Amino acid sequence: MIKTERILHLKSCRGRKVRVVREHYLREEVPCYSSLCQGGCVNDGKVLPGDLIHYVVPDVGMVVDYMEILELRELQGIVFTQTACQGVQHSKGRRQYNRLRNLLKDPRHDCVLFANEYQEYSYCPREKGESQEKWQTRCVYSAAVWYYNHLAGMRNVVMITDDQEAVAQYNSLNSGVYVMSVQVRDRSHQMDVL
Ligand SMILES: [Zn+2]
Repeated sequence: MIKTERILHLKSCRGRKVRVVREHYLREEVPCYSSLCQGGCVNDGKVLPGDLIHYVVPDVGMVVDYMEILELRELQGIVFTQTACQGVQHSKGRRQYNRLRNLLKDPRHDCVLFANEYQEYSYCPREKGESQEKWQTRCVYSAAVWYYNHLAGMRNVVMITDDQEAVAQYNSLNSGVYVMSVQVRDRSHQMDVL
């Protein structure tokens, strides 16, 4: 286990900016919850099946804005990152966060939570001057790459986003890890992966 520090910039209730340093622990063993695991994880509870073409890792924007699509039971093999969960909690509040927690608990939904910010090899410290959004995107992408490597390349991993810049920046960085933009035609059901 590695101990690092995480610097948070918070606003006090009077609106003053406060810099807070928190201890942050990184571990090598953070369960992947995939039945294809090649790393000997202790995967208690729900695991993703192996008979899928790829796993899907939605970025923060997708989880914040398109939860109703991610709730479709037809969508399988979804990995929600801790980064995305926290993003929902911060920008949408407790109700939406609980909706996501319920989805993760529900055995009918084929999705798991990956604690990417505690995983030694997927964690990305925020860089100086990096915006919160860019950092979150980098964290989620790094988690997608970790999955691909952890499963020894047995499944492709697709990060989905509605951010075209993220597609341009990351799609061709690693073979087997794709970044695709999703166009939602109508919010009820249709989703095209471009
Ligand atoms: Zn594993």
